[in-house]
Amino acid sequence: MEKIDIAIIGGGIAGLSLAKFLAERGIPFILFEEHTDFFMKPCGEGITQKIAGYDFFDFYDSKKGIEKEIWETIIHTKYGKISLEMPVLMTDKKAIEEELAKKAIKQGEIKMGEKVDKIVNGILYPQEIKPKLIVGADGAFSITRKYIGVKPPHLGVAVDGYAKNVDYDADNCHIILDKQVVNYGYAWFFPKKDRWNIGVGSYKIKYFKQAFPRFKENYKAEKWKGAYIPLDKPTKSYGKNAILIGDSAAQIYSALGAGNMSSMIIANLAAELIEKFAKRDFRNMDLSLYEKKWKKVIGKYLRYSYLTTKIFFSIVKSEYLRYKLLQKMCKDTTQYYRKLMKK
Ligand SMILES: Cc1cc2nc3c(=O)[nH]c(=O)nc-3n(C[C@H](O)[C@H](O)[C@H](O)COP(=O)(O)OP(=O)(O)OC[C@H]3O[C@@H](n4cnc5c(N)ncnc54)[C@H](O)[C@@H]3O)c2cc1C
Repeated sequence: MEKIDIAIIGGGIAGLSLAKFLAERGIPFILFEEHTDFFMKPCGEGITQKIAGYDFFDFYDSKKGIEKEIWETIIHTKYGKISLEMPVLMTDKKAIEEELAKKAIKQGEIKMGEKVDKIVNGILYPQEIKPKLIVGADGAFSITRKYIGVKPPHLGVAVDGYAKNVDYDADNCHIILDKQVVNYGYAWFFPKKDRWNIGVGSYKIKYFKQAFPRFKENYKAEKWKGAYIPLDKPTKSYGKNAILIGDSAAQIYSALGAGNMSSMIIANLAAELIEKFAKRDFRNMDLSLYEKKWKKVIGKYLRYSYLTTKIFFSIVKSEYLRYKLLQKMCKDTTQYYRKLMKK
């Protein structure tokens, strides 16, 4: 049986970021991605640039795939527009993932088109390898999560596509929060370099099913692609000889369905810890340290985001009250980012 220290399952933004951070630390790994190409799962391609004291460019030292830097998002509601000032990078996510992979393969191996079907007693099949540490960066339907016996998170669903002619201002991101468009969710219009990433998603599948045909009728897009998103509080993220990163552990801002930047931050924290484990040849790994570490840095923001969603959609029934609440939250967030950007 092939001996290997670290196997990463999944080559999305979480797995590829970890791979890059390990490569930068000189730590070898093998990564399995079931698809033969990157960015096969849809995404709005927006990255919240600054979160929890980190900047996206702390992790990504290139301009490849950065299409637009957006400062203001406009939230359209039936009671009026709300402005949210917060730096968002609009990206070509495929180019970002390719760039991460390019840096990662300097130290590790990326096996494209190789699915891990199951993990039994620490052995990956059909690869038949037994790594010292398994990293599940394998998304919403994680088999690594199943291997360590963690209950799956609640899943929402979203669909997006590329559109050409959109009547919104292309200097801003736009979010539509209106029950008539979608209940328990939102629609988005995100400007890219020469087209728009548009989509609609809901926390509840039954509402998504009502909304999507209407949305598709009103907006023409090149190709609609859908996927499930873990919209829940983060799950337990370690067990046996494995840790979970990204959507596999619902490490996502569930109020927005935004997991790109949180995945990168947590992958970076995981790489720091794995470096320490590697120095002791992965003996007596205390994987609970991983969960403690990311919870300390970003856990409270992810929990807050989950609670906001609960309060927003389940407790506050009136759309007008939601509007007022959102106005207040956006004002606070805008002030926070204005102060941060002045520093
Ligand atoms: C429609 C939509 C729009 C979104 N828009 C945004 C947005 O604008 N901004 C934002 O921040 N977030 C957004 N998100 C959320 C964001 O896409 C995810 O949080 C993020 O991609 C999580 O990255 P990940 O690497 O954990 O998971 P994934 O991107 O799901 O990657 C997991 C990878 O693992 C591979 N894999 C899975 N199982 C196996 C296996 N057994 N063997 C081998 N490979 C395997 C998959 O093929 C996949 O490539 C959106 C999500 C959706 C669905």
